[in-house]
Amino acid sequence: MQSYIKLKELKDQLSSKSVKESLEKLISIFPGRIIFTTSFGIEDQVISHKIFSNNLDIKVVTLDTGRLFSETYDVFSRTLIKYNKKIDIYFPDYVAVEKMVTEKGPLSFYESKENRMECCTIRKIVPLNRALSNMECWITGIRASQSNNRSSMSNLEYDDDKKLFKYHPLFEWSLEGVENYIKANQIPYNVLHDKGYVSIGCEPCTRAIHKGQDFRAGRWWWENSKAKECGLHNGTTA
Ligand code: SF4
Repeated sequence: MQSYIKLKELKDQLSSKSVKESLEKLISIFPGRIIFTTSFGIEDQVISHKIFSNNLDIKVVTLDTGRLFSETYDVFSRTLIKYNKKIDIYFPDYVAVEKMVTEKGPLSFYESKENRMECCTIRKIVPLNRALSNMECWITGIRASQSNNRSSMSNLEYDDDKKLFKYHPLFEWSLEGVENYIKANQIPYNVLHDKGYVSIGCEPCTRAIHKGQDFRAGRWWWENSKAKECGLHNGTTA
């Protein structure tokens, strides 16, 4: 119950604030316990720019699943060069990956949703939970207009499973606004965005989409599911 009362208080404190002001407010409330996870997508690059160029005391981390695009490593590298800041990298447990791939092969995720979730759990969820441990506030690049599922969310939520607050500073931003900000500030971005890739994850599970398709249509396209999430953002209360 206390979390829900605090959620309302926090929402009031963040209302009408800019992205920078909101992040500064959250840092003052959760000093040393605030984290941003980046996958180097275009929205995440805006947030990295806000954090790094304003020297905000937020831990920035990324998950390396071992199956990322080379273009993602390229923007990762260009981001380090531009800002000269640290990004902590989390890898999956190699014993679990070796067991899964030895027993099921390197493309088991195409065979069933169960196998896909197993792979996402080993390569993403477990490392994410390790990164989030001892944190109280998690910053993400989610925007409301990315899909119907996401538009029912709120810019500030409480994650009951992970026991932390989640703040999405670009929640109200349009894709056009994000793109304009990237250009105006000469922020490095993943060149796959210029080739029809919108939501960019692991290479074997991501493909380009056509104009007008759902934001997540290029992810796990072989699965017949409306909610194309990998479990990273389950368990939230708006
Ligand atoms: Fe595995 Fe695909 Fe999930 Fe990446 S997105 S962790 S390759 S199932």
